[in-house]
Amino acid sequence: ESKRKASLLAVFDSGLNKDASAKLQIASRLESALNNDEFEMHYQAIVHSENHELHGMEALIRWPQSDGSFIAPDLFIPIAEQSSVINDISKWVLKQCRQDRQRLINAGMDVRIHINLSARDLQNQNVVKHMQQEFGQASSEAEKFVFEVTESAMMSNLELVKTNMMATSKLGFEFSVDDFGTGYSSLSLLRELPIHQIKIDRSFIMDMQNGNTEHSIVRSTIYLAHALDCSVVAEGVETNVASLELQNLGCDFQQGYYFSQALPIDKAITASLINAIS
Ligand code: C2E
Ligand code: CA
Ligand code: CA
Ligand code: CA
Repeated sequence: ESKRKASLLAVFDSGLNKDASAKLQIASRLESALNNDEFEMHYQAIVHSENHELHGMEALIRWPQSDGSFIAPDLFIPIAEQSSVINDISKWVLKQCRQDRQRLINAGMDVRIHINLSARDLQNQNVVKHMQQEFGQASSEAEKFVFEVTESAMMSNLELVKTNMMATSKLGFEFSVDDFGTGYSSLSLLRELPIHQIKIDRSFIMDMQNGNTEHSIVRSTIYLAHALDCSVVAEGVETNVASLELQNLGCDFQQGYYFSQALPIDKAITASLINAIS
């Protein structure tokens, strides 16, 4: 019996080691991936609930591998967040998004770009300075960028985060609370910080059915957001039923596979042009 236990432990242990060494391997490759321009940005449409017209696009990072597969951002971003390499990734993302926004403008789509920021970006004075240098004071270009941040990212080191968010907001950038409802939401946080938008987490949208708890949460969140002068985006909209219900509830914007998945910039532009005609 003890023998079996020992071999079970060995299996368990080697599984853990495998996981840990895979993470270490990713961590060691992040910097060179950045220097070699291995990352790619994909863009997912955010549309008006009312008429499905394009409002903006969320930039989502991709890390293609030589064998044609991708390492998912859910896997490598948390690893990047363990060191300052995340700050360099965020700066790269911002640069890439500026270029791609120019291409959108050239195609007749002067839309907002949403960029995901990490807790470490919000806590880093240099990131704010970088934005200042890149965009200058309160530029009309900055107004076209929205930073998506989670509640937990804002809550760690609140005073510092608040200072940085205020300074960033003064430059013209807006903030959207990502994955709203999944963290420890605090109403005072919404009042204290310069927040312009709330993004309802897709878990609520996907489970929403008339009369259930998720439905009530979505309805109350839309009400709350509007009471705070914030707009609301629903993410993870996958069906016509969900889309229509969100429109009924007064949700301002929608995003999800029902409209489009995240696509490379050229395809995102083509898809949006086709949608605009049809
Ligand atoms: P997120 O910010 O919550 O992004 C939404 C995720 O939901 C994306 O996954 C998107 O592809 C996926 N999604 C969109 N519509 C639907 C839908 O209708 N149904 C379902 N089931 N999923 C949908 P993705 O691209 O794999 O990104 C995962 C997470 O990685 C993001 O979650 C974000 O936290 C992080 N991430 C992605 N790009 C970046 C980035 O450039 N910087 C940072 N710091 N984090 C990023
Ligand atoms: Ca997001
Ligand atoms: Ca989200
Ligand atoms: Ca998320």
